Amino acid sequence: MIDVDEPKPAAGEVTVSIDLCGVCVTEVRAYSTGAGHGPTLCGHEWTGRLVEVGESVDRLALGQRVVVGVPDPCGDCDSCRAGRPEFCALVMSVARGRDVAPEQPHGGFARLLTVPAYRVVPVPDKVSEVAAALVEPAAVAWHAIRRGVVATGERVLVLGAGPIGLLVVQCARAVGAAEVTVVELSESRRLAAEASGAHRVAATVTEVSDDHDVVVECTGAPDMVEQALAALRQGGRVVLVGDAGQATISPRMWLAKEATLIAAAGYTRAEIVQTLQLIADRGIEPEKLHTRTVGIGSLADGLAGLTAADTDDIKIVLDPRIKENS
Ligand SMILES: [Zn+2]
Ligand SMILES: [Zn+2]
Repeated sequence: MIDVDEPKPAAGEVTVSIDLCGVCVTEVRAYSTGAGHGPTLCGHEWTGRLVEVGESVDRLALGQRVVVGVPDPCGDCDSCRAGRPEFCALVMSVARGRDVAPEQPHGGFARLLTVPAYRVVPVPDKVSEVAAALVEPAAVAWHAIRRGVVATGERVLVLGAGPIGLLVVQCARAVGAAEVTVVELSESRRLAAEASGAHRVAATVTEVSDDHDVVVECTGAPDMVEQALAALRQGGRVVLVGDAGQATISPRMWLAKEATLIAAAGYTRAEIVQTLQLIADRGIEPEKLHTRTVGIGSLADGLAGLTAADTDDIKIVLDPRIKENS
């Protein structure tokens, strides 16, 4: 843990007093191995209130509740000009944590952070603090459902009931999936899947039928890509959310089912706004995933808790306002 200077907003920037910040497995990995992060301030699932606003920031006022987001497409990069704003270079670089001018460290594991105004999205009053802290992973799940074009009446199978899998279950229910099944090895997470609205749960893919319209792979385990296909009907879609690194598939089986493989990574600003609205309307309830709140002094313990094999933790949120004696 290190002390940093209180960040001051330059023109076009805002300073956010962090209320809560979700802890993601990305940070668990970064903390234990350094993977994916140089030495940096982590925490990419934050919510807070604006306490300082730089010059030339309009439409945002002091005290406004916000969540972390990505900008609107810039309209000016190669992708935008080619009519593919969903691949806007500005949005992509911000989504990967590289702002154009990252003058300040900008992770949410802190009391204050300063970011460009385009990084924040206003929060509707009806959204609770905990739900706001979970908007970022919920938007990942919502993006997966949209990419997979999951429709009313469809039968959906979700592989893995970690935070993203559970939010995919909620989003699938929100669009009216007729039946949502979850395959998950951990018994406590199977219970969590039922609490998130799964109609049925199973420990392995061999226990479920082979006629799902859509299978959403959220485990990131290499052999699950091929197992996703096994549970699919002919002509169905596999939506890939988990990152297995490397996996082996049998093209003959994919050909036989004429399966469609759809990758879903990240989210757009519009999807963040839609996710906030879904939460405000009680279409999804991300707070169901919340198992523990820790202060900054207990963050290391929280990170370790998420890696323990027998953990009952699903989503831990950091509250930097908690005073601890240490
Ligand atoms: Zn995350
Ligand atoms: Zn662009």
